Amino acid sequence: MGANWSRNAFVYLLIVVAAATLFINIYRPGDAPQQISLTELARRVQAGEVKTLLVSGDELRVQFVDEAAPVLSRREEGVPVTQTLRDLGVLPEQLAKVALKYEAPGNTGSWLALAVNLLPLLFIGALFFILFRQTQGGGNQALSFGKSKARVFTGDKPTVKFEDVAGSDEAKEELKEVVEFLKEPQKFVALGARIPKGVLLVGPPGTGKTLMAKAVSGEAGVPFFSISGSEFVEMFVGVGASRVRDLFEQAKRNSPCIIFVDEIDAVGRYRGTGLGGSHDEREQTLNQILVEMDGFGTDTNVILIAATNRPDILDPALLRPGRFDRRVTMDRPDIVGRRAVLEVHVRGKPVEPGVDLERIARQTPGFVGADLENVVNEAAILSARRNKRAIGMQELQEAVERVGMGGPERRSRLMSPQEKKVVAYHEAGHALVSYLCKNSDPVQKITIVPRGGAGGYVWRVAEKDRLLAKRAYFLDHIAVALGGRVAEELVFGDVSNGASMDIQQLTQVARAMVTRYGMSEKMGPLQFGQQDELVFLGRDLAEQRDYSEEVAEEIDAEVHLLVDSAYHRVRALLAEHVELLHKLANTLLERETLNAEEFAALLA
Ligand code: ADP
Ligand code: MG
Ligand code: ZN
Repeated sequence: MGANWSRNAFVYLLIVVAAATLFINIYRPGDAPQQISLTELARRVQAGEVKTLLVSGDELRVQFVDEAAPVLSRREEGVPVTQTLRDLGVLPEQLAKVALKYEAPGNTGSWLALAVNLLPLLFIGALFFILFRQTQGGGNQALSFGKSKARVFTGDKPTVKFEDVAGSDEAKEELKEVVEFLKEPQKFVALGARIPKGVLLVGPPGTGKTLMAKAVSGEAGVPFFSISGSEFVEMFVGVGASRVRDLFEQAKRNSPCIIFVDEIDAVGRYRGTGLGGSHDEREQTLNQILVEMDGFGTDTNVILIAATNRPDILDPALLRPGRFDRRVTMDRPDIVGRRAVLEVHVRGKPVEPGVDLERIARQTPGFVGADLENVVNEAAILSARRNKRAIGMQELQEAVERVGMGGPERRSRLMSPQEKKVVAYHEAGHALVSYLCKNSDPVQKITIVPRGGAGGYVWRVAEKDRLLAKRAYFLDHIAVALGGRVAEELVFGDVSNGASMDIQQLTQVARAMVTRYGMSEKMGPLQFGQQDELVFLGRDLAEQRDYSEEVAEEIDAEVHLLVDSAYHRVRALLAEHVELLHKLANTLLERETLNAEEFAALLA
């Protein structure tokens, strides 16, 4: 007890002494020079009021011409003060009037005095540290938010070039201009051209938007500062805006350069339409971006590139002239583009002689660049696991299916023999109808190996990418989708729920034929319902009905009719060729998978 008391008394004594020392240190009269900001310093240098500037570490001691009391300032970490002053508009001849002196930091005064002064501070610091450790668990970040991530903007120079971005030639053409702006701004400024401030890259995920932005900075040889819109969302209120400020500050200091804002829709969403919850943070961040963009002078050689896959929800303020007024679309690649992407990604990898990238490109409509990269990577992994020395065609083919169907083959999924039989007939039905319909895409592969949720599948691929499709094509499409269900019905006299995806698909096609493609004679070439469709996203947004109840009934009747007649056609077809159906299903049960040649041979 006694020992304890004396220790406590000692601690209190120390605290009192420390506080007293600190107090004396802080309030020592006359010894605390005034602090001024760098901007103020620059102003006074410009005014010719500064005689000497003593640089000691980060500290600047300013002595004035008129012998006024010296003041202190602080330079930015790691940046020479002369550069900062020049950035702030000080002319070289103004700077020349100032005597610059340098001094190793910490040499002033005696070490002993310094130690004596610092000791109580250290002591109190340690005390606070202990107190904090006791009172709080994980709340440390509360002290460090805001500025904490500011130094993360590295502004590295990407090595990616346009040639690493396959396809997308139109996008490249447009962006070449931006590269020129960044390389030779004077050329454009001389003619009074307004250099664009913002470029919006629009396209579905994985089409190479990020890659393209990097390539622009790689081509121009300028630093690349990037930030993702989604990063802001998780932040405290006010932090997003300050982060934007930091980012732009750093970028301006490193101009010419590129600022890349990925997923800008996360902050740039239409203001005032926030669904649920507060969107203050987002709005502030967006406003800050707008403020910064408007603050660019004609000589600010910083170009903003933003990426989004939802241009429809962006705030119009972002798209106004002088902001993101250039829009570059990155579409899903066509067959030529896909081949080019594959070529980029096999570059530098060992490939077997028999590999036919053209064929892989043909088999992958709808794949984006990221998918194709994934295909090559999966193929490399597969080849390595098979102890091959190069990537083989077989592996590429398997990789396509893996990536396309999501996940590797799941042979282990338990399927009863009866289930397997149903699946075999179902898939045989699809394949046979496809074979019997002239306008359908040819069958590439049939399998009853379950994969990613599907019991089996028939893989049909267009000869070439389709731009236009005729009515007959859609009718056959519906027929093929019905093939599985009708085969089940015909053979087992009962149906399974395995056809639900088929039904969903064919209903969509039939509806679109009536309401959008004008392919129903009765309804005529009219559009029914307003659809906000983004063609390149392949997705329908909300539909707005703009027709009456009676018309709705007519539409339904027409859709019904289309599907009904297709159904009867398929039923007749399959009944007529039921022998082939049995043969095909039995072969499938035996071999599980048939490729295009095997399929053709079987039906011949
Ligand atoms: P996004 O930003 O549009 O979602 P990314 O640029 O992140 O797409 O693309 C992901 C990856 O996919 C890239 O790193 C690249 O390897 C590959 N990729 C996408 N598009 C292409 C392309 N046109 N050419 C080459 N590779 C591509
Ligand atoms: Mg991206
Ligand atoms: Zn099916």
